[in-house]
Amino acid sequence: MEHPENSEEYKGLTVNKGIEQPSAINPYLKSFKRPKRRQFTPGEYVEGILKGDVTVLSQAVTLVESVKPEHQTLAQEVIEKCLPYAGNSIRVGISGVPGSGKSTSIDVFGLHVLEEKGGKLAVLAIDPSSERSKGSILGDKTRMEKLSVHPDAFIRPSPSAGSLGGVARKTRETIILCEAAGFDKIFVETVGVGQSETAVHSMVDFFLLIQLAGTGDELQGIKRGIMEMADGIVINKADGDNVEKAKLAATHFRNALHLFPAPESGWTPEVMTYSGFYGIGIKEIWDMVYRYVDFVKANGYFEHRRNEQAKYWMYETINEHLRDSFYNNPEIASLLEVQEREVLDGKATSFAAARKLLDLYFNQKK
Ligand code: GDP
Repeated sequence: MEHPENSEEYKGLTVNKGIEQPSAINPYLKSFKRPKRRQFTPGEYVEGILKGDVTVLSQAVTLVESVKPEHQTLAQEVIEKCLPYAGNSIRVGISGVPGSGKSTSIDVFGLHVLEEKGGKLAVLAIDPSSERSKGSILGDKTRMEKLSVHPDAFIRPSPSAGSLGGVARKTRETIILCEAAGFDKIFVETVGVGQSETAVHSMVDFFLLIQLAGTGDELQGIKRGIMEMADGIVINKADGDNVEKAKLAATHFRNALHLFPAPESGWTPEVMTYSGFYGIGIKEIWDMVYRYVDFVKANGYFEHRRNEQAKYWMYETINEHLRDSFYNNPEIASLLEVQEREVLDGKATSFAAARKLLDLYFNQKK
């Protein structure tokens, strides 16, 4: 087609015909194949992990995250072998809505605990939205400038494939690998939007909720369930003109917490203000976390919570596999469509339709 700018109407705007761009790729390179990395044996993975080799650890985490059945089998073997060396850490869940300052805070929190307590820190994430966006917004190295270059820190973005339950299970398994590799501090970050908090809460020893001072009605926006999970609530951005507002918000949160039944741990959740950006109040927060750990280790709740979590994950894993096995079954998938239509058209009740599908499934298994 004639370019419109070459028309009589636009005299003086003649556009020359372009020339074909030569290929920038050396044709001889096409035949070059990158040699495939040899797959480690389970024993080699475990050996590398126990030595604290971060490259091997990363590769093992990639296995955990893989959906390929052969990777899954290998991953399970590695996890099982690592299990006796795991558990020796403090696991802290950190949650807050986007913009609450999680990245800024985790960078500062991480540096603080490494400086004060030594050891090694792994930062993991659970991001339910990553499934949709096919990329994780959490755990991105560039968001934690200082930690990402710290020799004793390991940052891993959220696993991205699958359901929230699946994503969370992978993060929980990654915790085991990190602990076996000598990471004695684990942060699990999540974006504060609901369900994912429950998942994080079920794998950490301390749940820290980051909040912001708002217009005075910030309590309305936060779900009761999430507040009940918190072992500590910290109001970020308590700097400049915002200090008084943050203090007021802290008072509101303290008052609200009084209305909840006393937590099973016997620990009264504390509320503090801080500024991640200016590094104000960081030590106080981590003194609180370690005070909590001492407290629950002394009263037995620390062990109790971890045991309950282990049980929870056993059931979660069973549920996840049953669900996958059912929904990934091709015969079920086609009957599902038919039955859904029948229910929508009022030709079958929900229960009858469900029964039919389950019967098909279980008869297949016989
Ligand atoms: P995230 O989305 O929760 O990870 O939040 P970010 O850490 O990316 O922070 C969101 C914005 O808040 C950024 O522009 C930060 O610079 C700013 N911010 C974070 N912490 C503070 C703080 O303590 N004080 C102030 N004034 N701003 C902060």
